[in-house]
Order: sequence, then structure tokens, then C-alpha cells
Amino acid sequence: MRYVSTRGDSPPASLSEAIERGLATDGGLYVPESFPSVNIAALRATEGLPALAEALLTPFFAGDPLGEQLTDICSEAFNFPAPLRLLARDTAVLELFHGPTAAFKDFGARFLAAALARLQPAEAEPLTVLVATSGDTGGAVAAAFAGRPGFEVFVLYPAGMVSERQERQLTCWGGNVTALRVRGDFDACQRLVKEAFQDPSLSSRRRLTSANSISLGRLLPQMVYYAAASFEYELVRGAPAGFVIPSGNLGNATACFWARKAGLPIREIVLATNANETLTRFLSEGDWRPGATIQTLATAMDVGNPSNMERLLQLHGGDVPTRAELRARLVTDDEIRRGITEGVERWGQIWDPHTATAITVRESLDAPHWIVVSTAHPAKFESIVEPLIEGTVDVPQQLAELLDRPKQYREIAPELSELEARLG
Ligand SMILES: *Cc1c(COP(=O)(O)O)cnc(C)c1O
Repeated sequence: MRYVSTRGDSPPASLSEAIERGLATDGGLYVPESFPSVNIAALRATEGLPALAEALLTPFFAGDPLGEQLTDICSEAFNFPAPLRLLARDTAVLELFHGPTAAFKDFGARFLAAALARLQPAEAEPLTVLVATSGDTGGAVAAAFAGRPGFEVFVLYPAGMVSERQERQLTCWGGNVTALRVRGDFDACQRLVKEAFQDPSLSSRRRLTSANSISLGRLLPQMVYYAAASFEYELVRGAPAGFVIPSGNLGNATACFWARKAGLPIREIVLATNANETLTRFLSEGDWRPGATIQTLATAMDVGNPSNMERLLQLHGGDVPTRAELRARLVTDDEIRRGITEGVERWGQIWDPHTATAITVRESLDAPHWIVVSTAHPAKFESIVEPLIEGTVDVPQQLAELLDRPKQYREIAPELSELEARLG
């Protein structure tokens, strides 16, 4: 299996090359050259996420040296469950928040770390992972690489713009993980990382890599929980389900489209966005106009220029997807609040602000058989959720352990020179 760039101007790469590079040489994103048709009956017969992951991903690793290590990579990455909880009204919720940092990004980050670790030559200089985060990514990446020999991680986050609990998850690691609190916004953090990659003297001193959500090493494993949930739903309820996915940078959504393309029983896919309207405007007006990022209650979806749109467009032949191919609905902060407030009574669940966007969209859909994707545990966003439900949210044990550790960070101005000084 080879991987080509969405922009078509970069030579095809092997999976290992694509994972190590992140971005294709022409600035595009890597996509599979063709979609393998997987053996659905064989996948259905597997037991447990690691085995399903291995069976599903084997064709995507075909011909790559990493293929031989896929069993180990899958058992390392899929070591926590993704339960499907059946609710009323032919609806189910796919809980993706049982990993170390209580958000779905743990799956992709752990898989990427396991793959990258196996790609490092024995005597190589340590690999420096630079990651800019608006909250969830940085924690998941830090957790996945913490304590791994051969990696040094620098997490850049915007001062004062992440929640207290998110900041704890970014700053609690120590060792090979350094948290850099940047006096600027998320865009400033991203700009700094970009500048670092373009700085010749820095890249001659350090081997740099990024771990953001455009990485194939994060996307491919995300297909796995869609496969598991689609099988389970069909088995229990006798009909294929559609998925409603809370979306920002569209990585999680892309993985679901890829799973469907590979032949899994996924009826349709509907995306829920927050007030950042780049995607919904594009689908209704055909006009791709990335705008400035708007801050909402679902902060991890605050993306004005969703980078994985390139992959979704490529999948739909480069044209504006039709309604039958891709639907999305924008959910306002007021609707998010209502979704959380009414969630306890309507669904018997406490939703986090991201999942609340998807529930709001589910409630507006008539057809039965929907799986709502729950991307984070509500305890991560207790300062929003608790006042709305007028109660407290229990903190899962793995999260409680992280929140107990002291914060360690360095504060820097949003200047490349300050980042360089920290990197050494
Ligand atoms: C990152 C994130 C999202 C958005 O996922 P994308 O792949 O960027 O679309 C949604 N919810 C939570 C909790 C997240 O952390």
C-alpha cells in the first residue's frame, strides 16, 4: 500500500515514510493510493479491539516494515475499551473517553507513539516532538510519549485559554515532556511550531517531528472503533447505524469515512460542528472560506480552517460533497448548554460540551439508528457542565491520578527565539 498527497505533487510514500513526515512534501496530506476491500466476515469474527485493529489495518500496512510489528502496536495502543452504550430512541453512544486523558485523542496518540518508537534506528539522536494544542491534543500526546526512551516532547499551549484540568494534563508529566505556556493564543502556538520546522539551524540541531491530527499514524487507528461499533450495533439492533460525530479539524470524521469506504456497515455520517461555520457554509454555499477561529464551549472543536477537509474533498472527487455524501449541522453555544442541561432527563447521561453538539444534531434527525460519538468525559469540562446540571461529575480514576500531580511548566513569549532557548 502506498500513500499519495491530496495535492498530487509529491511522490508516493510508504506508510513508514508518511508517518515520519506527517505532511507530504508538496504541503498536502497523505491518503491511501487505493482503498483495500477488507474481509468483513473475518473482521466480524475477531474478538476485542486489538485483534480487530490488527485485522482491519493489515492491508493498510501491506508491504511496509511496520507491518511485522502491527500486532504489538495494536495491543499497546488499544489497551482501553470503547464501549457502545445503548440508549432509548434507537440511539447509542460510543464512549471514546476511557483512555489516560479521557478524550478520544488517546487512541490516535498512543498508536502514533507506538509506531514512531518502532521506526527509530537504534543509535539515533532523540526525536523531538513539537505539538501545539488548544487543550486535548497536547495532553494525549504527552501521555502517549511520557517516559518513552528516544523522545523529547514539547507541548505549547495558550496561557489562560485552557481549562484548569486541561492545564494539569499538559503540565503534570515532567521527565521527557516539557510544557510551554505561551503568552498568546492557539494560533500563536501553531505559528511557533511552524516557524521552528522552517528554521534551518534548529532542524540541523534536532530531529523534529510533529504529532498533530493530520498524521496518518493518528488517523488510521481511529477507523477501528467505528468498525467495532458498527458491527455491534448491527448485531444488537438488526440494522446498520449512522454516526453523528462532533467535529473540528475533521480527523475523526475522516477516519469514519475511510471505515465506510473500506466496507464497514455504516449507513451514513453526519457531522456536528460548533459555531465555527467554515464547513457548514461550504456545504450549503460551495464556498471554502476559512475564517478566524471563534471561541465556543466546545473548545477542542474551535477550528476556523479544518485541515482534514482536503482529505474529505479528495474522497468525494474534489467537488463539494452532496447532501447524500456529507451532511453537517452547526450547533450554537446556547444549544450546547441546553443539550447538557436536558441530557440528564432526556437521555440519562451527563454530556461534555463536545458530545452535546452531537446529541443536539441527533435530536434533530428523524431516521432511527444513530450512534452518537462521545469524544470526551464530562469531568474534563466540569466548570461548564456542573453549573448546568446543578450537580457534580465524578472524576474517572485515571484522570484523578493526573489531576493530583503538580504542575510544571515554563512560560514563554510567542517568539521563536524563546522557543529555541527552551529547546537548546
Ligand atoms: C479534538 C476533539 C474533537 C474534534 O475532533 P477532530 O478530529 O479535530 O474533528 C472533538 N471533541 C473532542 C473532545 C476533541 O478533543
